[in-house]
Amino acid sequence: MRRELEPGQAALVAEVDEVLDALGPDPDVHEAFAALGEARLIAVHYPAAYGGRDLSFAHHAAVSERIGLRGLPDVAHLITVQGVGCPILVFGTDAQRGRWLPEIASGRLLASLLLSERDAGSDLTRITTRARPDGDGWLISGRKTWSLLTPWSRVALCSVRTRRESSRYDGISLFLVDLADPGVDIAPTPRAAGEPYYTVTLNDVRVTRDALVGEEHKGWALLPTVIGFERGGFDYLTRAQSWLAAAGAELAALPAGEQEAQAADLVRCEFLVESARALAYHAAGTADGLETDEIDTAYAKLSSGLAAQALTRWATEELLSRPAAGEDGRHRAVLRAAAAEAPELTVSGGAQELQLDLIAGELMIGRSIR
Ligand SMILES: Cc1cc2nc3c(=O)[nH]c(=O)nc-3n(C[C@H](O)[C@H](O)[C@H](O)COP(=O)(O)OP(=O)(O)OC[C@H]3O[C@@H](n4cnc5c(N)ncnc54)[C@H](O)[C@@H]3O)c2cc1C
Repeated sequence: MRRELEPGQAALVAEVDEVLDALGPDPDVHEAFAALGEARLIAVHYPAAYGGRDLSFAHHAAVSERIGLRGLPDVAHLITVQGVGCPILVFGTDAQRGRWLPEIASGRLLASLLLSERDAGSDLTRITTRARPDGDGWLISGRKTWSLLTPWSRVALCSVRTRRESSRYDGISLFLVDLADPGVDIAPTPRAAGEPYYTVTLNDVRVTRDALVGEEHKGWALLPTVIGFERGGFDYLTRAQSWLAAAGAELAALPAGEQEAQAADLVRCEFLVESARALAYHAAGTADGLETDEIDTAYAKLSSGLAAQALTRWATEELLSRPAAGEDGRHRAVLRAAAAEAPELTVSGGAQELQLDLIAGELMIGRSIR
């Protein structure tokens, strides 16, 4: 049984379709985001004063799912609107909100996240990038990894160590870094599929107090907001849905006998994806304002990642191993890209083991999914 959207969510989805349909087939990505921004659809959960519509996180989730299903690179949307915009909205100053949020909601500004480092992936307390005081500001030095879309971004939210205390959670601060600063070096790292990752080296990049988001040294408390929506699973979910559609189309082109032999596996994959979708919408629905629940999002991220990986494994073994059946190879290209991308889902946005740890920790003290 497919989870139906609520009327308000369905109306937003129809608006997204209307805006994108008006641009014709395969619109330019930047044009598409600008058109969605113009229609105030990029960040419907932001206040109207900043280009949103004062709607809930669950409404934003429905828009996000639709944008992903329409084939736009949802990751840019996800990182900019959620990863960078939401911490500014929740913890930033009025000046920072006024400066950045309307531009983000307009769909014309891309922003990046500079959190991960070579030895600090899932465990972000191990970062070594540091900021040392310099007059009325700081100088930031260090190297960040795994960043996406960095050359197209104007600004990045960067985690740095501003002091070292006995607790490893203390002494982390978040800064908005101007990526055009001469001290910023951006180098691509090839990736199995799609856009490369970027390694970003910061050489004494100067920032002033207006670049600090939240309290100095207390940045750890902001990180759930930064990565909360990514953990919500919609990014993975829309990939799983698109890959499932390609697998279904490829299967439909096989002779009837072969289709029958694979039908149960296709249904198993559909079941996994639809369950993940229910968990992702559940996590969006239990968000308190912009704060998602850590355990609900752990379930959502884990289930959407595992569903995407299971269906990719099946499609690789049972469909890609056969001679091409479809007419134009379009679906096989999607499935080949899925095969290259699926392994990343184990670690991106916080390792699957980390989600299991979170869930197991809660189960031990008696709380399961709400
Ligand atoms: C597509 C993609 C996009 C990304 N975009 C960005 C970005 O824009 N900005 C950014 O800052 N970062 C980004 N990242 C980084 C991402 O968020 C993770 O931090 C990173 O992938 C973790 O990788 P790592 O190599 O450090 O692995 P680690 O976290 O060190 O994990 C290494 C291994 O240990 C396992 N493991 C980890 N934790 C546990 C545990 N608690 N128990 C048991 N096993 C464990 C993992 O599964 C893995 O097999 C991106 C990553 C990917 C793949």
